[in-house]
Amino acid sequence: MKKKIIIAIDGFSSTGKSTIAKQLAKQLGYIYVDTGAMYRAVTLYAIQKNYISTSFFDKEKLINDLDKINLTFVYNQEQEASEIFLNGKNVEKLIRGMEVSKLVSKVATLSEVRKKLVLAQRAVAKNKGIVMDGRDIGTVVFPDAELKLFMNASPDKRAKRRYKELIDKGYEVNYQEVLQNVKERDRIDSTRKDSPLVKASDAIELDNSDMGLQEQFERIMSLVNDKL
Ligand code: C5P
Repeated sequence: MKKKIIIAIDGFSSTGKSTIAKQLAKQLGYIYVDTGAMYRAVTLYAIQKNYISTSFFDKEKLINDLDKINLTFVYNQEQEASEIFLNGKNVEKLIRGMEVSKLVSKVATLSEVRKKLVLAQRAVAKNKGIVMDGRDIGTVVFPDAELKLFMNASPDKRAKRRYKELIDKGYEVNYQEVLQNVKERDRIDSTRKDSPLVKASDAIELDNSDMGLQEQFERIMSLVNDKL
């Protein structure tokens, strides 16, 4: 049997991390974990409890409630993807909208939130065979991951991709709002004190501004095969 490894994929917003991560996991028979969905689900909880809006954020209330937030992933055969459940409810659709996107980076600055989610992320990977994407996977969650990728693309390309993805899924958004959000999240994610978005020194950088999916996939698979 081939050995199993941990593949950590980090990078800026909407660089196609999850698309490539899902494809890799499928090919390798690995588990895929979308850590952004976890931060998004905690943010949705805070919105639903009125702990956060664009004009205020009661951090203490959210921190006090962290033990009440239960996150699970359930595999959806039809979608061929895992969906996130917040306290037993499928919130996959709700967490992808602009309301959550506009607030998630603020929630992700809280060390207490990060601590809880990082523990859960490490627990999934006890037996390796994991593809995990996020912002701090190669730096904080799995500093010893066998393969680390850092994805990038121009802000304009990324916003166009995210806009198309949202429109295709039926969300009502406008392009300028999406572009603004991508830039703002990158700014907050890169400058926060706890676990900022930075490329791990041993990560391989991949700018996919002008790269098709198949080309990316083949390039990454050859990196994976070198490690197996
Ligand atoms: O990956 P996605 O764009 O869905 O992530 C949403 C937000 O969650 C990011 O902009 C970031 O603020 C936060 N996040 C994080 N650490 C991770 C994954 C996501 O801080 N590992």
